[in-house]
Amino acid sequence: RKADIECKLVVLGSGPGGYTAAFRAADLGVDTVLVERYASLGGVCLNVGCIPSKALLHAAAVIDEAAAMAAHGVSFGKPAIDIDKLRSFKTKVVGQLTGGLATMAKQRKVRTLEGTGTFVSSNELEVQTKDGAKLIRFEYAIIAAGSQSVKLPAFPWDDERIVDSTGALELRDVPKQLLVVGGGIIGLEMATVYAALGSEVTVVEFMDQLIPGADADLIRPLAKRLGGKLKGVHLKTKVVSAKATKKGIEVGYEGDSIPATTLFDRVLVSVGRSPNGGMIGADKAGVAVTERGFINVDSQMRTNVPHIFAIGDLVGQPMLAHKATHEAKVAAEVVAGMKSHFDARVIPSVAYTDPEIAWVGVTEREAKEKGLKIGVGKFPWTASGRAIGIDRTEGFTKLIFDEATHRIVGAGIVGVHAGDLISELALAIEMGSEAADIGLTIHPHPTLSESIGMAAEAYEGTITDLY
Ligand code: FAD
Repeated sequence: RKADIECKLVVLGSGPGGYTAAFRAADLGVDTVLVERYASLGGVCLNVGCIPSKALLHAAAVIDEAAAMAAHGVSFGKPAIDIDKLRSFKTKVVGQLTGGLATMAKQRKVRTLEGTGTFVSSNELEVQTKDGAKLIRFEYAIIAAGSQSVKLPAFPWDDERIVDSTGALELRDVPKQLLVVGGGIIGLEMATVYAALGSEVTVVEFMDQLIPGADADLIRPLAKRLGGKLKGVHLKTKVVSAKATKKGIEVGYEGDSIPATTLFDRVLVSVGRSPNGGMIGADKAGVAVTERGFINVDSQMRTNVPHIFAIGDLVGQPMLAHKATHEAKVAAEVVAGMKSHFDARVIPSVAYTDPEIAWVGVTEREAKEKGLKIGVGKFPWTASGRAIGIDRTEGFTKLIFDEATHRIVGAGIVGVHAGDLISELALAIEMGSEAADIGLTIHPHPTLSESIGMAAEAYEGTITDLY
């Protein structure tokens, strides 16, 4: 069969992984085709993930801050929410970024093809397009097909009152009673948005902690604040059934903390994401896919088939956009003949809740589990001039050091802008910084970033063999 398109590299999927790989490869002179099943480039992150959620969280933050100022003598009154306008704002933000990607693809002469791709051999990808099937013959492939929300099987998914994060981000309306199943990052971000817009939000989490990946102390200030904003947060509890009735979705629970409400206008299921590795005909290319749909790769992002690479959510945790983009550059560079490897020491995680929670490297819990000898420097924001000035003193900054070398191995921050603050600590870990490097770095006053220097000094105060 004659190929419709011949290329050196085909990239399957145009999320943060896929578009970054395609653009980097093109910049390095590789003739590249980018295949995406949707008309809009950008994948989950730009279209139905990171970006629209942050646009809506911005609205939520403004609403909450305006309300909080009433206690300090500045009142704005009850917010008037024009949901259509707010939705348009979100759509415009997404459009600006996805449109930008289309322009960048053109500028780089990356050929884009809209359609669903499946491998038919180790050098051929068949793409079902609006104009029929097209066969692409490639020398190299980078699989960046991403992930999708886990759908709880017992739920009546054909009822539009049951949604995943994509449905919640559509912002059709503001439901009166919203149930969020799953208290991870995505569930809590959406709970924050809808609570600010006026929904009564109940969160149910199966584990004994919200955002189970982060240290428990970081969660406490968030849990406390959410307690005041949400109708209820229920840990160690499971939603076991959901029935569509005329009045609403009726849910059944099992566990330690059963919510009073059983009838909801909307149920958001945010219990995790599963990789799309099983949907792309990987077997036809000889690429091994795990039972759960992940594709294993080496440090050059190569699959078991040496000329086929995989990146992003598809290759494992953490499923984060910035991990995907870094893996993408490695894969593209290797295709172009460079000797790149993915060797990041750490990948920061951020929950853009209010307050934000950000952490990087080793957590205290991990250190304990692994028996690592660590020391901790902590700076409470009650002592931060800036935090006091913005009336947000619930936060703190925590640095985790290796006891033998005093090098930083991990950090956690809870508080407003924690997500922006964590980057300094990712850099500190990558550079092998010691507590003194951080403590002696002059941080501008009065900023929340000062808390980082102060936390390092707090640790230095506990040790005697520093100089
Ligand atoms: P994806 O973005 O999933 O892209 C894969 C692309 O491949 C999709 O466009 C898909 O249509 C396409 N595709 C799949 N199969 C085929 C096929 N057979 N043929 C053609 N095309 C195909 N991460 C962060 O770092 N920060 C955040 O703030 C953040 N917020 C999030 C909020 C939400 C609500 C969600 C759901 C996720 C969020 N994430 C966030 C996670 C982030 O979106 C993902 O980690 C990231 O999108 C992964 O990128 P990727 O390139 O691996 O795949």
